[in-house]
Amino acid sequence: MSFSTLGLSNEIIRAVTERGYTKPTPIQMQAIPAVLLGGDLLAGAQTGTGKTASFTLPLLHRLSSDKNVKGASYGCPPIRALILTPTRELAAQVEESVREYGKYLPLNSMVMFGGVSINPQKRLLKGGVDILVSTPGRLLDHVQQGTVNLSHVEILVLDEADRMLDMGFIRDIRRILSLLPKQRQNLLFFATFSDKIKALAAGLLNRPTMIEV
Ligand code: AMP
Repeated sequence: MSFSTLGLSNEIIRAVTERGYTKPTPIQMQAIPAVLLGGDLLAGAQTGTGKTASFTLPLLHRLSSDKNVKGASYGCPPIRALILTPTRELAAQVEESVREYGKYLPLNSMVMFGGVSINPQKRLLKGGVDILVSTPGRLLDHVQQGTVNLSHVEILVLDEADRMLDMGFIRDIRRILSLLPKQRQNLLFFATFSDKIKALAAGLLNRPTMIEV
């Protein structure tokens, strides 16, 4: 199986080929077609399995093939995909992947986390961001200050959701979920299944494709 048989666009295949990938990993083979179809996903995968590309590649494809691009004509330009991660290191790493895999696409991405000055982040948000990768706390700081608009999010990804729950982010996550449009695609990734993940998935996902690698 190749990346092109999975249904990804030439721009994306060019980027992954340049990255040196010759064929999709098992989680990519399962997740990419499911996400391209627009459905929700519940995926169990450890780091090192290629899980980041399993959601970023189809996410980039979906956003770039949607002709209904909202553009930056809004006062506070809308975010179209929101990726939440438990740590700043993971946020930075995921956004780097988004940037690399999306380098031939007209989409903007940005990473946000706490512990650094908020003003440069505000300026970047103003410029228009299609794909936002963030830790929950700093995202809520921006929500409170009215500098981020989550009302047009089409795709939500919770990466390492079990770790986010272990770190006590459940209230923050619920608050963020309440700000998103009801009609959207949800992708939930975890390393270890637990009752907490089960409860989160039950409230969040609509008839998800389930994958475990
Ligand atoms: P991840 O599980 O997302 O942290 O990815 C682990 C590592 O696998 C990263 O260094 C990726 O660049 C690499 N990787 C992801 N997909 C592929 C692929 N299809 N072929 C070869 N390497 C890959």
